[in-house]
This record gives sequence, C-alpha cells and structure tokens, in this order.
Amino acid sequence: MSYRIGSGIDFHQLAEGTPLFIGGVEIPHYKGAIGHSDADVLLHAICDALLGALGLGDIGKHFPNTDERYRGIDSKILLEETMQMISEKGYKVVNLDSTLCLQEPKIAPHIEKMRQVISSRIGINEADVSIKATTTEHMGFAGREEGLIAYASVLLKKETDG
Ligand code: MG
Repeated sequence: MSYRIGSGIDFHQLAEGTPLFIGGVEIPHYKGAIGHSDADVLLHAICDALLGALGLGDIGKHFPNTDERYRGIDSKILLEETMQMISEKGYKVVNLDSTLCLQEPKIAPHIEKMRQVISSRIGINEADVSIKATTTEHMGFAGREEGLIAYASVLLKKETDG
C-alpha cells in the first residue's frame, strides 16, 4: 500500500491573558488558547491527521496532557516528533489541507508564515500546504469567541521500507 490519507480535528477554548499560537505563529489578539501545551489548534489537528494516516493513534496517546514534559511545550516540537514517527515508517507527506474555524482575529495576514513553519517541519513545499479559514457566522462556541476549531487532512506516500 503506497498511499495513506489521514484526517484530524482539534478544539481549544479561548480566554484572555494567554497567548494565541496557531500554525506555529503567535498571533496578536486579546484572547489566547488554553491547553496543556501551547494549545496550537492547527498543529494539533495536523499531528492527528499524520498519526491517523498510519493508524498510530492520536496526539493524546503520544503526548498525554497528564505528562509534565509537555506542559507549555511548543507544538512545533510535537509536530517534529510526529514527523519522526512518520519517517520511521518510511512515509513522506504529499500534501496537507486544513481549515480553521474562528470568529476573530482575521487569519489571512498570518497564513503565509504558517505555511512556511509547517512546510519546513513536514518536509514539503509551501505550495503543498493549504491553510484556509472561515468564521461560523457568529454561530456556536466559535462564533461567540469561546473557542476555535481546526481540521486537517494529509496524504502520505510510502518512500522506503519502514
Ligand atoms: Mg489540542
């Protein structure tokens, strides 16, 4: 089997007085995301998509929120460790598509930087990293700015015998 697809989803609450990291980029905003790590909703969804493609479980299995090693950790490190697992199985990423759902702030000005950060970590060109964003038209918890959501899909290709 040479190709595998994976999908991931993640949610975090938003609160005042904490930084907002999305896609490995700190975004100026009056609210940030709450979590055991740096609460980067997009990188977590991407990790879950990568793990899911190879049936390796989920981010909570590999980086449990009960483990003090991961308290406040930069999620770029979690992505790098996840990619290590993918590489050890002999797979490479072909492309990544993702969507953020949040009411505020506007994500468009930060997408190019996110694509740089993510593409360098997963070993593909920026052109093969897609990041989209939508509001929920003020509906639900995302619309009330209580939280945010990220979805990610990846395609992996077997390169070597892992
Ligand atoms: Mg998370």
